[in-house]
Parts: sequence; structure tokens; C-alpha cells
Amino acid sequence: MRAAVVSDIHANLAALEAVFDHAEDLGPVDAVWNLGDCVGYGPQPSECIARLREAGALWVAGNHERAATGAIDTDDFNPSAAAAARWTKVQLDAAEKAFLDALPETAEQGDFVFVHGTLRWPIWEYLLDAETARAHFSLMAVPFGFVGHTHVPMAAVEDTRAPEGCRLTRLRDGDVIQIDGGTKIVLNPGSVGQPRDGDPRASYGIYDSDSMTFTLHRVEYDIGATQRLMEDARLPSWLSERLSIGR
Ligand code: ZN
Repeated sequence: MRAAVVSDIHANLAALEAVFDHAEDLGPVDAVWNLGDCVGYGPQPSECIARLREAGALWVAGNHERAATGAIDTDDFNPSAAAAARWTKVQLDAAEKAFLDALPETAEQGDFVFVHGTLRWPIWEYLLDAETARAHFSLMAVPFGFVGHTHVPMAAVEDTRAPEGCRLTRLRDGDVIQIDGGTKIVLNPGSVGQPRDGDPRASYGIYDSDSMTFTLHRVEYDIGATQRLMEDARLPSWLSERLSIGR
């Protein structure tokens, strides 16, 4: 079984389609696992929701799904993100909002648990340091998991011999993580639609149950096409500019 693991698509359909094409070029895709923030920032929220539903994606909610429906307010968002959230809210119809509101904050399937942020604070907390990783591990009832939210691809591996109790590693294009080591592992596939690790290419991963591996991939897409749609929609210019630099 091969699953395409995506997160933080942020209404960037060109990036999402490029990722799906890339994954299918490598082999049959049996499942799509989505870690939230399908909407917000980008110009095609409805199209991205439809594309993921068509793919039958497993889907946990992020803070941007909640903001887009009004389930949470945007006081904690920066001004650009709040403006984009207001724009997104206007674009979505009642059925789309009802669908987003019904998304769970965590999901479990087999040996995996899925959450946008962390199990301690599902839609808000960034898993970027050892203390947060340890807290997350302590709440995991299964050995493996996926998170999103940071827009930075990363692996966190529990290691009781390491000084901090775990090892955190940034992932780059082509990195392969073996996930049957008998230790808890949390993986972040990075962001499809708004990478923030300095590499503007779309980021995602493929989990292969035969080899028990997770492979990170970076995929070029038509950034200009998304930027033109953002300009047409009068979305904040910084949100469009940052796509070119991956920040
Ligand atoms: Zn995000």
C-alpha cells in the first residue's frame, strides 16, 4: 500500500495537482493522508477541497479549516493570514463549511495517528523541538504518526539514549526514513502549497507499507499560475511573494 502524505495545501491547486501527478508517476497511489490546512492563504479553496474529497483523503482539521468556517476567530492570526481567512470564508459555500466543520482534529488508522499540530494541542502547537516531541510521544497510543502545521518537513524519532529523549531531523528531497525500528516516530511531510524551509518546491511524502518507509519528495509546480490567481483575488501580496522564495 502506498499513501501520499500531504499537508498545508493552503488552497494552492497547482501545487496539489503537481504532487498528485508526481506520486502517480512513481507508482499506484492507494490512499491520500492529509494533515490539515487545505485552505487559507491561497486562491482555490473550493477546488482543493473537491480534489481531496475526490481522492477520498483521510483528513484532519487544521487551524485554517476552523478559521475558514468561523469555528475559531482569527485574533491569533497575523494580519495577512487573517485577511486571507476572511476572503476564504466568503468563497466557501454552506456545504463546504459543514464538511470542514465535521473534520476531526485527530484520526487513527492502524499503527498511525494523524494530527495537524500536536496531540497536546491539535490545531495550534508546532512540533519543532524536543520538549514538544516528547510530549507528543507520551500521548501516542500507536507507534507512528504524522503532523503538519510547521511547513517544514521533519522526522522526530524517540530515542531514550539521546540527551533530549529524541532526535529531530529536517528532511530533504529524496530522504528515506525507515519506520519499523521499534521506536516511536513522528513525520512531517512539509507543506504542499506554502513551503517555509527555503525550498519553494511543493513538499510531500510517500508512505510504503511494503518497505515500511517514508520518502520525502519536492516537486516543482507553476508558482506563477498560483500567484496570478492570488493577484486577481486581491489576496495580500506577501502571501503571493513568499511562494517564490519558500519562506
Ligand atoms: Zn499551514
